[in-house]
Amino acid sequence: MPLSLHGIGVSRGYAIGKSFILQRGQPEVSEYSIPTALIEDEVQRFKEALSAGCHQLREIRRRIPPSVPVEIGEFIDTHLLMLEDAPLAEAPVKLIRSHQCNAEWALKLQRDLLVQAFEEIDDPYLRTRKDDVDHVVKRLQHILLSDDGFYPDLLPARLEGRIVIADDLTPADTILMQHQGAFAFVTEFGGPLSHTAILARSLRIPAVVGARNVRRYLMEEEEIVVDGSLGVVLGDLNQDLLAYYRLRRRQEQQARQALERIRREPAITRDGVEVALQANIELPEDAQAVRQEEAVGVGLYRTEFLYMNRQDAPDEEEHLASYRHVISTVGEDCPIIIRTADLGADKQVDGGRSSGPVATNPALGLRGVRLCLKDLEMFRAQLRAILRASAVGRVALMIPMLSNVQEVFQVLRLLEDCKRELLQRGQSYDQRMPVGGMVEVPAAALCADQLTRYLDFLSIGTNDLIQYTLAIDRLDDEVGYLYDPLHPAVLKLIAATIRAGRKANIPVAMCGEMAGDARYTRLLLGLGLTRFSMH
Ligand code: PEP
Ligand code: MG
Repeated sequence: MPLSLHGIGVSRGYAIGKSFILQRGQPEVSEYSIPTALIEDEVQRFKEALSAGCHQLREIRRRIPPSVPVEIGEFIDTHLLMLEDAPLAEAPVKLIRSHQCNAEWALKLQRDLLVQAFEEIDDPYLRTRKDDVDHVVKRLQHILLSDDGFYPDLLPARLEGRIVIADDLTPADTILMQHQGAFAFVTEFGGPLSHTAILARSLRIPAVVGARNVRRYLMEEEEIVVDGSLGVVLGDLNQDLLAYYRLRRRQEQQARQALERIRREPAITRDGVEVALQANIELPEDAQAVRQEEAVGVGLYRTEFLYMNRQDAPDEEEHLASYRHVISTVGEDCPIIIRTADLGADKQVDGGRSSGPVATNPALGLRGVRLCLKDLEMFRAQLRAILRASAVGRVALMIPMLSNVQEVFQVLRLLEDCKRELLQRGQSYDQRMPVGGMVEVPAAALCADQLTRYLDFLSIGTNDLIQYTLAIDRLDDEVGYLYDPLHPAVLKLIAATIRAGRKANIPVAMCGEMAGDARYTRLLLGLGLTRFSMH
């Protein structure tokens, strides 16, 4: 009987292929004592593992394809530096000698010490650096234990045409593995709105997340099926099942080709309503796809990636360089909505850019516009860059996570200040650059008629709107089953926002994942939505 394992389908499509199981839980390390005469041999064993670790990381660095964002390389550099620093390069040697213990155990002792020290740090960014310590120590321990299955990144040939099964994947893992030929993913943790899930959809890789214990039931190199639409992973396949999924895959390819043929047709409903199909982009490199897909604009440019895997915030020139790159790729006439940094919560990248104690509930804490209004220096650099970009292309600015109209006033005031600064510097900008806001919090939807008085457009961010309306953490797979775009409360808020926009005669778009899900298109059209922005 075929084995059927269930998770959450986060990126549709069917994949049939051999599994690649990524076992990277904690390595099992036990302590044993080393006779005095063999201590120096043990030290040598540790040193060899250290240099093998450095070698692995340098190899990974070398193999990163040029199209992968530069931050991923920097992330690997950080790990290399850690391997060269005394706390990991020298302290374990002292421990081997003083405790007369094996190298794996010495590393464990040192890891516990370092992690404890990181946990005591107030700064949340530095505190999360303990994950890096963990990654680096695990790498060394796996080398010492001669476990070469841990880091497939060194073995691209093994990933070619394979389906990766892992505990969890970071966006960086996802990009790297896709470049190495993996064509589907299954993870035990993670929710449908994690950035990894969004990335999988952008890369068009079938993916299932939250499939608990999947690694326990599947075998390495077993032929499996990933049904990203149903959120199912199938093993122990029989001929009937294989034939069925081969057929589904063929049908899917044919359906894609059929859509391809009508891509250039204008998007107009049968009763003559024009519909704008726009694109969401995350990395400046995504801009190329906007042209290929012939989207009529960028409805959401998420700028958080500019802030990731680094200590400092990007400066005005760096922001501007990215925006110019996007404008020159999509063309000066293509409208682009740049969203100001939506950092915090699921996009924790703060690099010291938020202070104070760790939020007990980050999704309800300092995130999005709230965080920007606390860190004015960082925010103003981005506002000036967006303004300057508006002199080059058809740029609009969008504010995330609005929960009251005061936040709109504050941003508008800051924008006026920034305009004055640019005038003094003799730098140009579009005087009429539109400023819009995201409706992601129920309060914003319920008071949309107030927001429309001061803003030029609204965009409904259903990922967060659903999270906040139904009180479900978008990253928590335990409550993923409650994530329901069709919940009447969600639909009422969407309808109220569209109505408010109509009344004020300003455009209302939707840029959450719901906008790109064809199952909801008719309903949304029926509610009066005519602008859809999607990955
Ligand atoms: C949303 O919340 O729907 C949205 C588009 O923003 P993000 O997914 O980046 O939070
Ligand atoms: Mg959001």
